Amino acid sequence: MSKVLIVAEHLHGKLNAATAKCVSAAQALNAESIDIVVLAADPAAVAAQAAQITGVTKVLTVANAANAHPIAQVLAPQVAQVAAGYSHVFGPSTTFGKDLMPCVAALLGVAQVSDVMSVEGTHTFKRPIYAGNAIITVEAPADHTVVATVRAASWPEAAGGGSASVEAVSLDAALPTHTRFIGLAAGSSERPDLQSAKRVVSGGRGVGSQENFKIIYDFADKLGAAVGASRAAVDAGYVPNELQVGQTGKIIAPELYVAIGISGAIQHLTGIKDAGTIVAINKDGDAPIFEIADIGLVGDLFTVLPELQAAL
Ligand code: FAD
Repeated sequence: MSKVLIVAEHLHGKLNAATAKCVSAAQALNAESIDIVVLAADPAAVAAQAAQITGVTKVLTVANAANAHPIAQVLAPQVAQVAAGYSHVFGPSTTFGKDLMPCVAALLGVAQVSDVMSVEGTHTFKRPIYAGNAIITVEAPADHTVVATVRAASWPEAAGGGSASVEAVSLDAALPTHTRFIGLAAGSSERPDLQSAKRVVSGGRGVGSQENFKIIYDFADKLGAAVGASRAAVDAGYVPNELQVGQTGKIIAPELYVAIGISGAIQHLTGIKDAGTIVAINKDGDAPIFEIADIGLVGDLFTVLPELQAAL
């Protein structure tokens, strides 16, 4: 029987919803136990949230001042040590997990299984390749620990209401001195997090400039939505890189996705394959985005958006 360890993703004392999605993937294994490990300077608050996820057996906490910032090279040796005795180690396929899990896999001497979208057996998984245009089945060696990232967009959050026990773990893992936290440069935003938001409004090259993007931010605020962008908008400097949606950006699965002035290139669509309702606003009625949109509005965004906003 499988014993699964999930690495919790968290920020500012709040557990990221992707962790509960990893629990759903672990449940698909019919695992004997599903434990979550929380690495932090002070893990108590996050551990309490993790303990509420249904299906979790135990929450392990690793308190260390070095864990105040999620540095993959610092966390990985600790996760690798906690992983002893587990058949599977899962992390979310978010920026955090994509950074950390390959380090964990390397330390355990295994090849990582990436982007698990379905579980076919204890060591057999399906994952997308070629920007989501093909799905392959991969099989991990049966005699190795399976280290995998779980494609957040493919799994529902496991429900709350659980009451797992919380256990502190002390480790003697040697932490690196060559990689350490120096500082963090990040844009501050009151808006919802792009990767976990239920509603996302994205702008593309059609928005035309950094100044014009205000119209996208205003519309997103009206909807209580996160803001995303196409790569063309990012490359043109309209918005920062962290807003990019798509193959080389973020893969998201909001309930509502509004694409404004975005043509619908395959690399962009890869990022929104699992979105619920897709709304497209584009002045070109032949834009490919309309082929996948549930609701399409052909028109100039600078006319349509103020009207829509007023109507809302
Ligand atoms: P365009 O294709 O130029 O489309 C702009 C659209 O705006 C047009 O349809 C136009 O009709 C419309 N428009 C213009 N003015 C208005 C107006 N006033 N009102 C309404 N509509 C208007 N792209 C991504 O988005 N994400 C990725 O992760 C990504 N990864 C890539 C990886 C690789 C390896 C490669 C090769 C490409 C990648 N791309 C990615 C780029 C992708 O191929 C497209 O170039 C990009 O998505 C185009 O962005 P866009 O739709 O904003 O721009």
